[in-house]
Amino acid sequence: MNILVINCGSSSLKYQLIDMEGENLLAKGLVERIGIEGSRIKHRTTGKEEVVIQKPLKNHKDAMKLVLDSLIDKKYGAIKSLKEINATGHRIVHGGEKFAFSVKIDAQVMKTLNDCIDLAPLHNPPNIIGIEACRELMPDIPMVGVFDTAFHQTMPEANYIYALPYELYKKYKIRKYGFHGTSHKYVSMRASQLVGKDIKNLKIVTCHLGNGASVCAVDGGKSVDTSMGFTPLDGLAMGTRSGSVDPAIIPFLMEKEKLSAEDVNELLNKKSGVLGISGISSDFRDLESAASDGNKRAKLALDVFNNRVKKYIGAYAALMGGIDVLVFTAGIGENSSEIRYEICKGLEFLGIKMDKEKNQVRGKDALISQEDSKVKVFVISTNEELMIARETKELI
Ligand code: AMP
Repeated sequence: MNILVINCGSSSLKYQLIDMEGENLLAKGLVERIGIEGSRIKHRTTGKEEVVIQKPLKNHKDAMKLVLDSLIDKKYGAIKSLKEINATGHRIVHGGEKFAFSVKIDAQVMKTLNDCIDLAPLHNPPNIIGIEACRELMPDIPMVGVFDTAFHQTMPEANYIYALPYELYKKYKIRKYGFHGTSHKYVSMRASQLVGKDIKNLKIVTCHLGNGASVCAVDGGKSVDTSMGFTPLDGLAMGTRSGSVDPAIIPFLMEKEKLSAEDVNELLNKKSGVLGISGISSDFRDLESAASDGNKRAKLALDVFNNRVKKYIGAYAALMGGIDVLVFTAGIGENSSEIRYEICKGLEFLGIKMDKEKNQVRGKDALISQEDSKVKVFVISTNEELMIARETKELI
């Protein structure tokens, strides 16, 4: 069974074709600059050279058509005909309270998805457009929606309700939703497999540290708390996002700097985080190299980031009444031994003993804690696409 996984952004479309027999990747690629000058696809079939094709693409339907053409291309394709695609799995950012699980997409689901747009006005519309494009081009192929928020729907009320007037939750559904759910779910399941224990008996803290970053407390396989909130802006300091700030700063800034709601949103989402602190870059490779050259603000940005992650680990250990496994994943978590080291430093009192040598690992799932560390610390490569494909397979 072959499943095509689609992740549609506002001007991009990422895809993977996975053979679920052995969970093998058949092809993957990225369409960029959809609707903008310079549209192109980068496509690679496993075992063949990557191809880059420049072509004007008006919209996501054009992009989807180019993806399908690339998949069946005689020279660089992966399959002979579209009949070899058994289902498509779509990443959807926000499912609100309506979707606690992945769903097979039908007309009713499409209506509910449209109702969720208010909660994620930037992310959900391109996700929906991707589904519509697939429906037009492959009307007979079943589709499944997999939500970034769904895994966190198990959070208890006490962890998702904000201390705001309760009516606002009733009226606007303002509450913590959490994101990166597919990744937290995947790495926590993989961690339980690596320690050889049933996930039901484990207290796991997963740190998804990428350009967007979040921490999740997974107790017995269920998300019980996570650092992102109503939107993906809350929690950790990120590449360009502020994470948690004192909410009183917002009206203060609006008044002092004469900013509109849109300006503040832009400031908090695009100009803050480690970029805002350092004034250099949102990329941790640049920051690590600047800090080692003596740049104080780059070092400060890294310290702010690391301390915040460390505080969440401690908080979630307290919340769950302990911690058995700690996982690092995503761009920074998988690649930066320095960041992992700094985060774990000082957490020995929780039973976290990092092994400096094992921590040098790159590019594979590995245990990086010492033999006698009470808490097992892992680096695990996240694979949201495979998780989406698995859930799609299960539903069809
Ligand atoms: P992601 O959003 O998961 O793709 O992660 C992207 C981020 O990972 C980049 O912005 C970098 O900051 C970070 N990253 C990637 N490679 C490295 C590395 N070798 N060392 C430190 N950070 C890295």
